[in-house]
Amino acid sequence: MKKSQALSIIAKNVETCTLCKELAEYRSANSYLTVPGIGNPNAKLMVLGEAPGKDEAEKGEPFVGRSGKLLTNIMKALGWEREEIFIANILKCRPPNNRDPKSDEAGNCRKFLDMQIRCISPEWILCFGRISSVYLLGKDPSTSIGSLRGEVHKHNSCNVLCTYHPSYLLRTPSAKEKVWNDLQPIRKS
Ligand code: URA
Repeated sequence: MKKSQALSIIAKNVETCTLCKELAEYRSANSYLTVPGIGNPNAKLMVLGEAPGKDEAEKGEPFVGRSGKLLTNIMKALGWEREEIFIANILKCRPPNNRDPKSDEAGNCRKFLDMQIRCISPEWILCFGRISSVYLLGKDPSTSIGSLRGEVHKHNSCNVLCTYHPSYLLRTPSAKEKVWNDLQPIRKS
């Protein structure tokens, strides 16, 4: 089976998932879409965020709001077009009022993420923010993003980098230099 077909099947399964009762009810009450992920099935780089916000749940696509524009620009500066990478989140549904994902929700959604990672088999996974970093790497959720930056972690055969979330950068532009430094190992040569 082609990778694109496998990713479509995963997305179809996400669409009908009701494992997280609160998220599924919130989704249907607001006519929100699930946000499985989007991008190149053969991506060398997978970007992982936390969960869809309102813009994303209305469009069914990750990182389309303000932080998404910044993400696209950061990728461009590193030499990657948005279409070349694959973008996904820990949660495929929008949490009410953008609250943090709960660990049982991250656990319920994990099988979809694992299937996506296995299918794409990227060389690099870039975790934006604490939530995506701790859940991908299986760290205690209270672990700080600061303590995970600055080293290449491993997830199966993928190299993993962790850095600040674009929405943090929108609030704290002075952290951009740190993110730029964190991302140098995935600069496209
Ligand atoms: N923030 C995220 O972590 N993911 C999105 O898709 C949008 C904003």
